[in-house]
Amino acid sequence: MKGELILIIEDEANIAQLDRLYLEREGFAVESAADGKAGLQAIERLRPALVVLDIMLPVMNGLAVCQALRAARNPVPVIMATARDEDIDKILGLELGADDYLTKPYNPRELVARVKAVLRRTASGEDKTGTSGELLRCGDLTLDAERREVHVGANLVPLRTQEFAVLEVLMSHPGVVFDRERLLKLAWGYDFYGQTRTVDVHVAQLRKKLYASQVKIETVPGIGYKLVV
Ligand code: CA
Repeated sequence: MKGELILIIEDEANIAQLDRLYLEREGFAVESAADGKAGLQAIERLRPALVVLDIMLPVMNGLAVCQALRAARNPVPVIMATARDEDIDKILGLELGADDYLTKPYNPRELVARVKAVLRRTASGEDKTGTSGELLRCGDLTLDAERREVHVGANLVPLRTQEFAVLEVLMSHPGVVFDRERLLKLAWGYDFYGQTRTVDVHVAQLRKKLYASQVKIETVPGIGYKLVV
């Protein structure tokens, strides 16, 4: 993780500067771009390990940048910075497929924690649930932690990094109820008060993608989620 390149796409120089300071202090290499178009070009040129992407950007906004990346099948992990909570469903949704988000103004320490968590989840072979290299099966659902692949029957289901992480936690203990805080901690590697809505958004996406499976993610009212066949 140390020395990996993080690209910050942010037009507010003081924010970019502060983010850079904190990330460099953790040993990351940092580059920045001040508008969306320059950001896209920098992604192609520099191939960063992760992109921190502001939404309100000149020339081309962050949503359009993320959309362009995913349309080009570029899997680079993206953490989006948003000023408004209403954007979250869209940001984490199928259309944009960002890996995480931060609401502005954010603490740069929190940014560092998110960057590390997303990189940890993205890195192959490393796995918080201790299922690395194992094949998890539940009904017609198969999860290959090593290849980072999920199949419903013979059909490959493309999942985003965090969707995969949530499913992996649920599949590690089918039938067991996980509350949102615990899912957040296990799947994201951190525990931030008030971020549990992120879990709901990812579960909703998973349900859409796994609609053809006999395995369902059941809501346990007032508590959280469990996997049932
Ligand atoms: Ca901005």
